[in-house]
Amino acid sequence: MGRIQVLPEVVRNQIAAGEVIERPASVVKELVENAIDAGATRIRIDLEEGGIGMVRVLDDGSGMDADDLALAFEGHATSKLSEASDLEHIASLGFRGEALASMGSIARCRILTRQAGQDAGHSIQAEGGRVGSVEPAAAPVGTSVEIRDLFYNTPARRQFLKTTSTELARCLDVVQRIALAHDGIGFVTTHGGKRVFDVEPEMDFHGRIRRTFGGELSEALVEVSTQSGGIELQGYVAPPRFSRRDTARQMWFLNGRMLRDKLLIRVLRDAYHGFLDPGRQPVAFLRLRLDPARVDVNVHPAKAEVRFRDGQRMFGVLVKALREAVVSTDMSTPGESLLETKWRREARESGASYLPLPSRPSQGAMGPIVVRDVPGRFLHEDAAPRPVASAEAAGSPAMAAGEAGQADAAWSKTDSFQGPFLQVARTYIVRELPDGFEIIDQHALHERLTYELMRRDVRDHAVVVQRLLIPEMVECTRADVKRMAEFQEDLERIGILVEPFGETTLAVHGLPNRLRNPDAEGVVRDLIEILVREGKLPQAEDVIEEVLHSAACRSSIMAGDVLSESDIQSLLVRASELESDQTCPHSRPTRVRFTLADLEKAFHRR
Ligand code: ADP
Ligand code: MG
Repeated sequence: MGRIQVLPEVVRNQIAAGEVIERPASVVKELVENAIDAGATRIRIDLEEGGIGMVRVLDDGSGMDADDLALAFEGHATSKLSEASDLEHIASLGFRGEALASMGSIARCRILTRQAGQDAGHSIQAEGGRVGSVEPAAAPVGTSVEIRDLFYNTPARRQFLKTTSTELARCLDVVQRIALAHDGIGFVTTHGGKRVFDVEPEMDFHGRIRRTFGGELSEALVEVSTQSGGIELQGYVAPPRFSRRDTARQMWFLNGRMLRDKLLIRVLRDAYHGFLDPGRQPVAFLRLRLDPARVDVNVHPAKAEVRFRDGQRMFGVLVKALREAVVSTDMSTPGESLLETKWRREARESGASYLPLPSRPSQGAMGPIVVRDVPGRFLHEDAAPRPVASAEAAGSPAMAAGEAGQADAAWSKTDSFQGPFLQVARTYIVRELPDGFEIIDQHALHERLTYELMRRDVRDHAVVVQRLLIPEMVECTRADVKRMAEFQEDLERIGILVEPFGETTLAVHGLPNRLRNPDAEGVVRDLIEILVREGKLPQAEDVIEEVLHSAACRSSIMAGDVLSESDIQSLLVRASELESDQTCPHSRPTRVRFTLADLEKAFHRR
């Protein structure tokens, strides 16, 4: 007898299950996606023991007839594609016909279903690979799939599951992501009989983000919407201050399918370039629509990765649209966030986290504001920490109409940047605003200005070089000299003229004239450090960006320079003309703003 055997179907399904079903959250994902493919508008997810005990998904979709139900637990049985060419343009979430068969082999499963127009429904059960027969059963229109005791017959797999609360969190994460992608579908989620997450069918994308992540984030988002050559992008980007260490809050949806993709992570990194600390990841919620023929979704069993057929072109379109939105986010640091308000203190003392924050009502949701006319005091009927009412009271009708974000724009547009200014510790500039005051870090702002101007020069091929009368010599290692020689041309492009002078010396002949009091040696040392740190030959563009950063930093007005009134004014005016002047190139804030409402809070006037 030969040694090679064709594996029995149960074993094959268990092997497939290893790829498709990793944990309860994968069950949730597959079942909810099936419900969506069936055209459901209301989906209910009931969980027990973090989904390990039970996942049940109930939908009001098309349902199945008895013949289809009989095949539901069969491997590679799907109603969603029938021939190989269908794989070229997949529009449904499922298509591999593996999910139910996998679950049937590693859990105790039951499906109850009825199609509209049929008098009765049907049920079928599967347990550890044994599939029962189709029985008539009373059922509402739609489908209910119940998966109990996941991995009960594969103890090795079960061991890898984490605690109930971790598994629950992952299940919830899946539901929330799917809910974000599907306007028009309502979701109800329970755990142990308690409601844990709901979304109503009529909620739009923004409403869903708000429900999931709270008002502070959702109110700060800026919308992106673009359409270009078959690429459609719609969604929201958050100001850089919401950035985090991981990419968990970068949510991309491609034709309704959630996905994680390296290319898209890079797209966001580029869009936020210069506004984020290295190592921080932006927050964004984005829906991408492409002709299904332009992506291959069949490269990963859980379909979490895809392959784009025209990645390069798409990259450019997306970065451009996103960058525009990113620069218009509110990057100032709200002074409010620095104040030790009562509820913050209480939250901290009780060990509670700040999230979810009491949501700030949006303009539309906010009732009329009543300002009582008490001389010298501003009283607010609404509890929301908004500058609006006090602005009105302060006699600035233009401000009264706006949200905080619009108010910022209004400030800079109508601002003539007149003094008086107060310079504190030769480092900070304080000035009054229509609705409060701001504190500007003069060094951070000047750094941003220098950096942006140098970047613009490079882009426009308009770099003006200041030649040094006497070249500045910088001693370094042989390796450094060699490395610098490789980059000589790229550096010349950005106005840094440096060349080897002997084996361990570099000679600096010129620097961009934008640099005030240039510190040639400092610039070269930074440059060497950047090249060493990158280890391999880095992309010229990245090096240039970094060199511009460090050069801008080395030449800017240092903390400690006394500035005249007109120095300050000219700095503010020029900075206001930049793409963004709210952070320095290292993404530290350039200014902190306090509204009158902040002050009232700080002085316990409300
Ligand atoms: P796939 O989704 O890849 O087709 P599944 O194993 O998830 O494979 O499902 C197998 C088939 O069962 C589907 O193609 C569909 O016809 C049917 N089905 C599964 N869930 C539902 C549901 N909730 N409503 C209607 N039909 C369903
Ligand atoms: Mg499926």
